[in-house]
Amino acid sequence: MSFDINKIVRPSIAALKPYSSARDEFTGKADVYLDANENPFDTGLNRYPDPYQQELKSAISKIKNVPKENIFLGNGSDEVIDLLFRGFCEPGKDEVITLPPTYGMYQVSADINHIKTNKVSLTPDFEIDEAKLEATINPNTKIIWFCSPNNPTGNALDPDAIIKILKSFNGIVVIDEAYIDFSASQSWIDFLDFYPNLFVMQTLSKAWGLAGLRLGMGFASKAIIEILNKIKPPYNINTLTQDKALEALGHFEEKNEAVDVILNERINLNQALSELQTVRHIYKSDANFLLVKIDHASTIYQKLVEQSIIVRNRSNVTLCEDCLRITVGTPEENKTLISALKQLI
Ligand SMILES: *Cc1c(COP(=O)(O)O)cnc(C)c1O
Repeated sequence: MSFDINKIVRPSIAALKPYSSARDEFTGKADVYLDANENPFDTGLNRYPDPYQQELKSAISKIKNVPKENIFLGNGSDEVIDLLFRGFCEPGKDEVITLPPTYGMYQVSADINHIKTNKVSLTPDFEIDEAKLEATINPNTKIIWFCSPNNPTGNALDPDAIIKILKSFNGIVVIDEAYIDFSASQSWIDFLDFYPNLFVMQTLSKAWGLAGLRLGMGFASKAIIEILNKIKPPYNINTLTQDKALEALGHFEEKNEAVDVILNERINLNQALSELQTVRHIYKSDANFLLVKIDHASTIYQKLVEQSIIVRNRSNVTLCEDCLRITVGTPEENKTLISALKQLI
């Protein structure tokens, strides 16, 4: 294995002289700031935010047990995904691999950046097709996008198959862990020291209950993080987001309590759904949603909409035929869904 960051970063990015903000050039504390053309009168937001989010990263570093230099923060995972393309994939030349059915943003972001996506479908039990994956890797493959636990299937992917790729692939191996807090499996952030090509994504959007805040986290080797820092918009995480995230991270027991309730409700919802005649299969879930194979999925979806209950119709997604993806809601919401389904069936 010879992962070499200099071989995979785009040449124009390697050569880039990044924008230097006022807060880059002076980082200490001062009494009078006349360097950033800010309005001096205090509105609560008259100053630019910390471009490298030091305080927030310190808090994340403690919770995740990952050094600050191995953390990148983005305006949602969406921005982290886009920056990985922009840092490492040459438009019109480089390629990436996704494993559908999976999260749609990898493909959309690839298309926006004019990067070819090669798809290696998961097996019917939603595992990695190792032979096909290895056969699909070519010299232009820069990133492999794993999502574990996977959306929309809900399962965590086999770690042994991922380890083989981490050891043999000389590009970046992304593992999107948006749902890791709902999973019994270990986070890949514990393995950052072993794999210089590993990039783990997490987010405050799911377990932390802060989808509106837009805070995505990337964890990787210092070399990879430095590339993203070089190309990100200077003030990509605004002051309100940094403050609110810091506050939320301060009482993570609330996050844990919410996760406990959701996990318990996942069991209850699974049980109630399995008692419905038209439910064919409920896939094992490591996430905060259930993928449910049900007769006449599209009709049921539509009828639920008419009752003001919205689930996600995945029935036209390959390998998810006749499937609805149902987010685990509050105990009340789940009861409402089940009684609506009982009346429909
Ligand atoms: C919901 C979700 C995210 C979260 O994206 P944000 O931009 O951080 O809100 C990331 N990846 C997957 C697979 C998701 O399902």
